[in-house]
Amino acid sequence: MELDSYRRSAETFVSQLEGEYYRHYAGLKDAYEIEPIYEQHTELFTSEAVEWLRDLADRAAADDDRRRLTMLVDFAVQGYIGEATKSVESELARREAELSIEVNGERLGFRESSVVQANEPDAARRAAIEDARVRALDEHLGSLYREQTDRQHHCAAELGWGSYREMCEQSKLLDLDGLHTQTESFIRATETPYPEVLEPELRSTLGLGFSELARSDLPRFFRAANMDALFPADQLLPSFVRTMHGLGIDVNSQPGVVLDVESRPKKSPRAFCAAVRSPGEVYLVLTPIGGWEDFSVLFHEGGHLEHFANVEPGLPFEFRYLGDNSITEAFAFLLQNLVEDPEWLRRRLGVTDASSLVSHARAQRLVYLRRYAGKLAYELELHGPGTDGSLSTMADRYSKLLGAAVGVAWARETYLADVDPGFYCACYLRAWALETHLRRVLRDRFGAAWFDRPEAGDLLKGLWLEGQRLTPEELLRQLGELDGLDFGVMVDDLHLDGSPAL
Ligand SMILES: [Zn+2]
Repeated sequence: MELDSYRRSAETFVSQLEGEYYRHYAGLKDAYEIEPIYEQHTELFTSEAVEWLRDLADRAAADDDRRRLTMLVDFAVQGYIGEATKSVESELARREAELSIEVNGERLGFRESSVVQANEPDAARRAAIEDARVRALDEHLGSLYREQTDRQHHCAAELGWGSYREMCEQSKLLDLDGLHTQTESFIRATETPYPEVLEPELRSTLGLGFSELARSDLPRFFRAANMDALFPADQLLPSFVRTMHGLGIDVNSQPGVVLDVESRPKKSPRAFCAAVRSPGEVYLVLTPIGGWEDFSVLFHEGGHLEHFANVEPGLPFEFRYLGDNSITEAFAFLLQNLVEDPEWLRRRLGVTDASSLVSHARAQRLVYLRRYAGKLAYELELHGPGTDGSLSTMADRYSKLLGAAVGVAWARETYLADVDPGFYCACYLRAWALETHLRRVLRDRFGAAWFDRPEAGDLLKGLWLEGQRLTPEELLRQLGELDGLDFGVMVDDLHLDGSPAL
């Protein structure tokens, strides 16, 4: 196959898949028909295609050619694995949708049980829900998760890599060891302040202390319904539109941008952004339920939306659709963080005292960062060489590493369900660090109310234009941040030394 026709076919595939995802999960179409899309493009994901692209990437001389080819290798590899695991994945989705659990004589759908748990005021009942969930998962889904992971590992070997980890490092250009060193030092630096930061927040949100905390309490802690009063439902969309306006962007007249926030019976409760054409046809789908979470989710997905909507249309396909997702996640976190920013809360929602929200958000952030640091440590072992045939021993490692990072007893049973493909945990970790660097640059240049400065919008639009061509390190260098991406910025950003959180 010619490289140009591979690229055209790849772009059609991605666009069709995103379109199908949008229509199904927006509740506009019942069936989720992705298999026919794969069937139209089988030539994209053969082992020969992976080998051919790897060879071209190895031989590429020009910088941008090598970038584009490396992104295509990753695309082909993920598609190859997608082909090999799609039957297990659809069976997992089918069984999970049908699964129910019994808690003290009451039946709950497996999927809805996490929402019920987050809204349950009684800690003992939250623990009972968790217990029933992990038992049902182990009994009914465990073997499928093992099969899925085995197949992923097997694919990496078939394609000639020493391990799944090595495959991801090379095809995604990830320095996982380097990142791991940084996240381990983050864990050490936050070890002592961690319980101190959490204690008062747990008391005010859950009415219990750190020593009593269980994993089953975390969804309710994150839900933080006591903060909802600060976030009036009728301000949800207007606050986003006005924030973008402050940055010099008129969301309502942006070509190809659709904010889909109306309720529909079959619409997914989970918000998402779908770039069917990047740029030119980008959807943000959200079903508002009220409160802080709506704002958080809208602004996160809004960051993806603006990134993809502002990509330069003439860029090669790879830079508009593929590349390192740490980039788009960083823009998503940048806007998401605004809804916890005192200056933004004052200007957009008229909140005069944001201190309780700021300290809750800080505690929540610390739990997330430590949890993801633990996930990375675990996934490096899970996907490293030598786990084949001995997957079950990983359940103990999972429980030990996550339990130590988060500081609570951690169930073993979710050791494969709690893993996103392709080391996406590393994307989030790098995105958090990149967002923190970016936010500093914006504050330094445009002040605490940077979101009200069209010049800040111009800076962002200049970065969005490039799609995901650059790595996070290169993006920072372009901004004059020469020290590179360092997860250590997260320690300062959390103000653990007692200085006031700005
Ligand atoms: Zn995201």
